[in-house]
Amino acid sequence: MPAQTIVPVEANLINALEDRGLRKTSARSAVTTRIETASGAFTAEQLCRDLPEVGRATVYRTIRHLVDAGALCKLPMLDGAPKYSVARNEHHHHTICSRCGAVEEFRHSTVERVMRSLEKEIDGDIVGHRMEIFITCSNCLAESNRGGSSGR
Ligand SMILES: [Zn+2]
Ligand SMILES: [Zn+2]
Ligand SMILES: [Zn+2]
Repeated sequence: MPAQTIVPVEANLINALEDRGLRKTSARSAVTTRIETASGAFTAEQLCRDLPEVGRATVYRTIRHLVDAGALCKLPMLDGAPKYSVARNEHHHHTICSRCGAVEEFRHSTVERVMRSLEKEIDGDIVGHRMEIFITCSNCLAESNRGGSSGR
């Protein structure tokens, strides 16, 4: 078996909620449908704005359940509110463009090896880890090279 196996996760958010014992309501399916059709990462506030017919509490609660179920990734930002993106692979890390917010998933065996070797040095049991790398994505780099008017 290759060292780096990517396990794709079927993104069915409403099923993830039902697995947690939450009934399928029209409000909940409005939230999951919106998330599934969203392009890229979003904040809870953006989702609330996009779904004025769904109560804020429902939006926030549904997001929390999806994060707990592992169907949604919560991405801490360098500044501002956390963003959320649909989990495409089982265990993965993220690159996040600090300019346009584009999120990509990645997995690297070296990272996992480093984490395993840390177990010896860390007092206690490691139960999980997360890693987000903040970048300027190639699109944004190309944009600023083309523009030239950014003045720096
Ligand atoms: Zn993710
Ligand atoms: Zn970008
Ligand atoms: Zn990892």
